[in-house]
Amino acid sequence: MSKPNSKPLAKPQPKPWIAQIHAYVPGKSKSASGKPLVKLSANENPLGSSPAALAALAEGHNPADYPDPDARALREKIAEVHGLDPDRIVCGTGSGELLHCAVQALAGQGNEVLASRYSFSLYPLLAHKVGAQAVFAEDNSYAASVDNLLAAVTERTRVVLLDNPNNPVGSFLAPSEVVRLHAGLPSDVLLIVDEAYGEYVDPALQHAAFELAAANENVLVSRTFSKAYGLASERVGWVTGAPHLIDLVNRLRGAFNVSVSGQKAALAALGDQAFVAATRKHNMAERARLAEAVAALGNHGLSASPSEANFLLVHFDGAVTAAGALEALSDAGYAVRHLPGQGLPRSLRITIGKSEDMTRVIAALRALCGEAV
Ligand SMILES: *Cc1c(COP(=O)(O)O)cnc(C)c1O
Repeated sequence: MSKPNSKPLAKPQPKPWIAQIHAYVPGKSKSASGKPLVKLSANENPLGSSPAALAALAEGHNPADYPDPDARALREKIAEVHGLDPDRIVCGTGSGELLHCAVQALAGQGNEVLASRYSFSLYPLLAHKVGAQAVFAEDNSYAASVDNLLAAVTERTRVVLLDNPNNPVGSFLAPSEVVRLHAGLPSDVLLIVDEAYGEYVDPALQHAAFELAAANENVLVSRTFSKAYGLASERVGWVTGAPHLIDLVNRLRGAFNVSVSGQKAALAALGDQAFVAATRKHNMAERARLAEAVAALGNHGLSASPSEANFLLVHFDGAVTAAGALEALSDAGYAVRHLPGQGLPRSLRITIGKSEDMTRVIAALRALCGEAV
């Protein structure tokens, strides 16, 4: 109890760079009035999860026991599916945990973490959490520009983060461009290729970054079970790279960072590549249908950036605004992502959902433009 006139007790004070950061803002699933909406705002898999993963989860386990701290069986299965060395893989509580570890290991006060102007909203938080500066290179029609990224490298740059395909644009840098980016970086700068949407890309183009990570000392590639594998709630991701990078991440990650159910579900999901292929096929067809519908509304100022991911970034440059479309889609029962805080006030990121939902989203956009539905 404080005495009258005594000075208030000092509170614990955060480090100054922590005081400046805000918590990660997740996608919405409710309207302003609290009405539940179909969530097309977090890039979740509309087909759900692999039946094999659901069966593994239904088996149950003894919750009194800790999980395998090294996720050995899961790492061996990842290695088998992708032709990698299991000793060069670390699993994490989502790939987000591992991105944090990698940045924490290499960057701090006085350092810079570089990304493209429109990239994953988590990236500046990764830098700010460790007191480093987040630096953004100018884009090339919303996509990452290798030339601009290389021009933005300074002697303070410790890490370059490239989400490929990118979030929130969906843009994809060809393997030759990723190789050119790596070739232009100093050897002591870490390149992290974040392939959260890697499974949506043409399988022929999916292995290039793994080869870069296998052959170099300064490349990490991350993948997740949160998107195409439909296991976002289980929180499982992984990275691969050179042994010294794997060692750094292992020192910093949580000791029992992947739950028993997460390890089991991810292991089973890897064994069901037919589900991943069906997810890719559904996504390609429905993304093309939405892109075509947006292009047909071009005379109303709508356009979409090319996407290789499970969402489409739609731009509104006419009388119909992004804020207006956000409201109309909410009235139609859909939550999509408006990202004015990321410098995209005139755009909406729409996750590719079930076919019937995409039909309704297209109808709502057409109605808003005054076109026949
Ligand atoms: C969704 C996403 C992730 C995945 O995060 P998890 O922690 O694995 O769920 C990583 N990077 C990008 C660019 C994403 O959009």
